[in-house]
Amino acid sequence: MKIVFFGSPGSGKGTQATELATGYSLTHVSTGELFRAKVLDHTRIGRRIGDTIAAGSLVDDITANYVLFKAIDGLNRFLVDGYPRNVAQAKIFDVHLDNLGTGLTCALFIDVPVEVAEERLIRRRSQRQDKVVNYKRADDAPAVIHHRFDVYRKQTEPLIQYYSDRIIRVDGTGTPTQVTRKIVKALQEWE
Ligand code: ADP
Repeated sequence: MKIVFFGSPGSGKGTQATELATGYSLTHVSTGELFRAKVLDHTRIGRRIGDTIAAGSLVDDITANYVLFKAIDGLNRFLVDGYPRNVAQAKIFDVHLDNLGTGLTCALFIDVPVEVAEERLIRRRSQRQDKVVNYKRADDAPAVIHHRFDVYRKQTEPLIQYYSDRIIRVDGTGTPTQVTRKIVKALQEWE
């Protein structure tokens, strides 16, 4: 089983990917997490990636492809969250898997209206401040949130069309538990 997860920022894809990976015994690969870990290396590449993430833009495709291909190397069962982020990445990923004699099982799209997702992110940020949590994602700053949605609409949303032959579209509104149930049901119907 090889799944990609996509959705807008604030769609809950990270939370759902973690649940699903556990339930289906899949290796969860999150490119966002991999990049955030690279930032901590304090190398030149790490700094460049950190600046890109903080600005809410996408890391360049060559770096993203390299990091992802390395992360899934040798894995038969995986769930990728955060990649592909644009059609160019989706195409090269298909070629890569095809060269390995395999392909994606499906592409799972968590569908949350952009206004709802944006609202969630803004709320998450203010709740973090209330609790005086030390860790704050720089890309959760209000101005950056708008840019991330812009990037999502222009670059990531076209994946809906690209994956139209193997997309599972799940309504991502509701509580995390409700959404997980919807995903499990949709996956069972797909299989
Ligand atoms: P989000 O909640 O915004 O979807 P992620 O954790 O998936 O967050 O990603 C955080 C950031 O990491 C993105 O805004 C982007 O800068 C970078 N990133 C993650 N995956 C990719 C990718 N496949 N291609 C380019 N940049 C990526």
